[in-house]
Amino acid sequence: MNTSALIDDDARWQAVLDRDAQADGQFIFAVVTTGIFCRPSCRARHALRQNVRFYPDTGAAAAAGFRPCKRCQPDKAHPQQQRLDKITRACRLLEQESPVTLDQLAQDVAMSPYHLHRLFKSVTGMTPKAWQQGWRAQRLRASLAQGEAVTEALLAAGFPDASSYYRQADATLGMTARQYRRGETAVRYTLDKCALGRCLVAESERGVCAVLLGDNDAALEAELVQQFPLAERAGADDAFAGRVAQVIRSLDDRRVPLSLPLDIRGTAFQQRVWQALRAIPVGSTASYAEVAAAMGQPNAVRAVARACAANTLAIIIPCHRVIRSDGALSGYRWGAERKALLLQREATTKES
Ligand SMILES: [Zn+2]
Repeated sequence: MNTSALIDDDARWQAVLDRDAQADGQFIFAVVTTGIFCRPSCRARHALRQNVRFYPDTGAAAAAGFRPCKRCQPDKAHPQQQRLDKITRACRLLEQESPVTLDQLAQDVAMSPYHLHRLFKSVTGMTPKAWQQGWRAQRLRASLAQGEAVTEALLAAGFPDASSYYRQADATLGMTARQYRRGETAVRYTLDKCALGRCLVAESERGVCAVLLGDNDAALEAELVQQFPLAERAGADDAFAGRVAQVIRSLDDRRVPLSLPLDIRGTAFQQRVWQALRAIPVGSTASYAEVAAAMGQPNAVRAVARACAANTLAIIIPCHRVIRSDGALSGYRWGAERKALLLQREATTKES
């Protein structure tokens, strides 16, 4: 229906005579002899044209002293809209933490279970049960990716208990939650040299997941396998080699931005600490207490220090820029000497 066709009252009257549902919502008509206003599609018998008035909306008709028709209920949402609203409400209920049965849902949206099931499927393309499971799996993936403990993540995702989840684990994640949490995902790595010695770069399907520094390749590989037990050394792959070269260029010169995606794994708290570290500019340092204060958690100094020590993305997440409040360098996962070199290098970068 062309909206502009309804600009004049003749077109509006024709829409009323046609009981054109597509005109619903575009205008309201009222009948002066009955004092009632209707949607264009109202099934009630039509009044004479001379007794009909048109209004842009229900508010205008009501303001003119008319009452809504009980049959077409022009003051209520459109029936189709009402049905959609019910399905939207059902979706939100299914997304809650506690599981909802079809009967409970049906009662809540005032429909029979049979009709709700049918309508839900026609609107969403899924059964209510599939919707609920899909939502839980999505929440579970999100919280596991943030590094929450497995049981906590299961409960947060709405699984009533761990065992009921484990039965479905394969279907949702394709692996157990514990495997996912422990990083038992496909990771490949390679070793190369950088300005600070040997360097291990690893990537998952989501991005660069580890950058480790050291002097000894075997020690670096052992360090990686602790976090990613399934990590494998990459074979010849030019694309991967190119990304590794980009990482190393960026490690060696912090003015070279790293534009590769990162796969940062840690608890929600660790992620916040690492985010705060990335806000410390090149050539500057901050104390653990300053980082904790910047996060709004001044008492979390020790937890900040632990999160720095847990960083697996050397230099990219600049945990080397955090020093003790008294100015002492303090520890560094990859050696205090390397930390001193890095800070010295960044101080000169700043000057240049
Ligand atoms: Zn009506």
